[in-house]
Amino acid sequence: MYSLLSHNTFGIDVSAERFQEYASVEELKTLIAQGALTTPFLHIGGGSNLLFAKDYDGLVLHSRIEGIEVMEEDDRSVSVRVGAGVVWDDFVGYCVEHGWYGTENLSLIPGEVGASAVQNIGAYGVEVKDLIISVETVNIHGEERVYAVEECGYAYRDSIFKRPENKSVFVTYVCFRLSKEEHYTLDYGTIRQELEKYPALTLPVLRKVIIDIRESKLPDPKVMGNAGSFFMNPIVPREKLEALQQEFPRIPFYELNDGRVKIPAGWMIDQCGWKGKSLGPAAVHDKQALVLVNRGGAKGSDIIALSDAVRASVREKFGIDIHPEVNLVNG
Ligand SMILES: Cc1cc2nc3c(=O)[nH]c(=O)nc-3n(C[C@H](O)[C@H](O)[C@H](O)COP(=O)(O)OP(=O)(O)OC[C@H]3O[C@@H](n4cnc5c(N)ncnc54)[C@H](O)[C@@H]3O)c2cc1C
Repeated sequence: MYSLLSHNTFGIDVSAERFQEYASVEELKTLIAQGALTTPFLHIGGGSNLLFAKDYDGLVLHSRIEGIEVMEEDDRSVSVRVGAGVVWDDFVGYCVEHGWYGTENLSLIPGEVGASAVQNIGAYGVEVKDLIISVETVNIHGEERVYAVEECGYAYRDSIFKRPENKSVFVTYVCFRLSKEEHYTLDYGTIRQELEKYPALTLPVLRKVIIDIRESKLPDPKVMGNAGSFFMNPIVPREKLEALQQEFPRIPFYELNDGRVKIPAGWMIDQCGWKGKSLGPAAVHDKQALVLVNRGGAKGSDIIALSDAVRASVREKFGIDIHPEVNLVNG
């Protein structure tokens, strides 16, 4: 058995039957040809969006494909090909150092580049899908395929790579296009307010501001196990919002382009009185109700019990079903 304790930011003490890493596409294809990829299998990245319900009775795979390679460049933009095993925030730091605009609002999101394209990570008004050109993959039969961004089915924290039928498609490289022209996304959260502390706006300053905001709000997984936002913000028809506004006139919401609205799940969880509350060793974070934390020694089942209780409260009070963003692994 192989311990997965250091491979999941929730800090759940589970093991996998086998653990296999590879450092290149060739190595992955050789493993496949040798029949080393036995079922069931699960491909992980940094484990920052996973919740293991129990030991994983199978093979856990992990990419160590590194490298950031410039593919094309002109005065206005640069295209880069990045290995799936590169730590996401190292890539953001690299972009900022090189004066490439686009990733800075996604600073400090845990995990690796491969998963960023699976999850369509997003924060502070930016989603990674808007920076991706294509996603390179190898499937369980050793076949390579490049998906153009339009083929990836991107939506809010979603892509075709999350579909059960694509669990045997492994991301090996992601190609991004970054801009060399100065532009920023600032109209989200307290970014503008925080920027007032600095004499001028630059890419490194914005990265620092994002990091500072995140560190003040989100628990550090090294200190308290968590997987970031546990739930997705539900998207509902406008009529549903209007009905809720009768009872909750101050309900926050974001307008979407298609006429529907997104309601912050954290606000609803807070209204249900869950912020800072514990259920055994699992708790709702006291600063951000969207985050569930492991107070120490929690099992996957403890986190699931808390998640179920929170979801039931929100359903009862608001008539809305909230769904986990975190990938539950039942093994
Ligand atoms: C403190 C904290 C804050 C966070 N904040 C944010 C945030 O602001 N915005 C946001 O979007 N997310 C956030 N997250 C969630 C998480 O960082 C992202 O979902 C991240 O992309 C997960 O990356 P990972 O490498 O850890 O992937 P994992 O959690 O290991 O895997 C996630 C999914 O991707 C699949 N996968 C991973 N690598 C590959 C691969 N190479 N090929 C095929 N499939 C693969 C896995 O099977 C799984 O389904 C946060 C998490 C934490 C702990």
